[in-house]
Amino acid sequence: MQDFKKEEQERILKQREVMPVIVGYNKEANEKAYEIAKEHRLPYVLGIAPQTIVEEGLDKLEMWKEEISEAKPFAIGEIGLDYKWGKTEEQRKAERQAFEEQMELAEKLRLPIVIHCRQCCDEVVEVIKEFAFKGRVMMHSFSCKVKHAHALLDFNPLFSLNTWKSKEKKALIKAFPIEYLAVETDSPYIARTPLAVKSVIEEIAELKAMPKEDVEARTAENVATFLGIEKRLGRVWEEYGIKWE
Ligand SMILES: [Zn+2]
Repeated sequence: MQDFKKEEQERILKQREVMPVIVGYNKEANEKAYEIAKEHRLPYVLGIAPQTIVEEGLDKLEMWKEEISEAKPFAIGEIGLDYKWGKTEEQRKAERQAFEEQMELAEKLRLPIVIHCRQCCDEVVEVIKEFAFKGRVMMHSFSCKVKHAHALLDFNPLFSLNTWKSKEKKALIKAFPIEYLAVETDSPYIARTPLAVKSVIEEIAELKAMPKEDVEARTAENVATFLGIEKRLGRVWEEYGIKWE
C-alpha cells in the first residue's frame, strides 16, 4: 500500500470496500506502512524481506529489528527467502540469517510470521522446521506445492492466495479446508489494486462450491484471528461490510 502514489492510496483507502493489511519489507516501507496503518486504523505487518538483505546486507539488521519491535506490529513479515534475488551462496546465507533472527524476534514478541518465498519452497519449509518456530505461519502469495503446505501443518498455517491463476493454487484450494486460506493482491505488485482480491474470492468460491459471501467472511476471519485484530483495533472489519457468525 505504501508504494502507491499518495492520491491513489487515499482513493483506495477511502472506498472502504476491502480492508487491507499494510505490509513492509525494508526500513522505509516499514515506516510508511506504520504511518498509513495508524492513520487509517488498519493492521500492519513489519519485517525485513530477503530482497532487502540482498540489496543492503546485514549491517543494519539489529537496528531495523529494534525499530520493528518499537512499532508493535501485528506480525513479523515479510521475512523469508528469495532465490530469484539471492543468487550467490553468500547472499542466500545472509537471507537465511535475517530470516532466523526475525523468527527469534517474532517469538520474543509472541507474534506470528508472514513469509515471502520465491523459487525456494523446500528451503523455506526446511528453515522453519529446523528453527522449530513457536508460533503461527502465513505463507504470502503461496506458490508452492500441496506437499509444502502439508509440511507446515505443525505451525497452524494460513496460505494466502493472490490473483495469479496456477495449477498449484487450484490444487491447494481443493486440498485444504477454508480454515487454512487467506486472500491477497500484493498490490501494487501482483494486482494493480486491492479491489482485485474479489477475483480470488470468486475463484475459491467456485472451486469449493461455497457462496462468495462465506468465502469473504471466512478468509477475513482467518486473518483477523491470525493477526489478533479484534484485541488491538476492535471489530474494524465490520466497517467494511464483512460479517461472520
Ligand atoms: Zn513478497
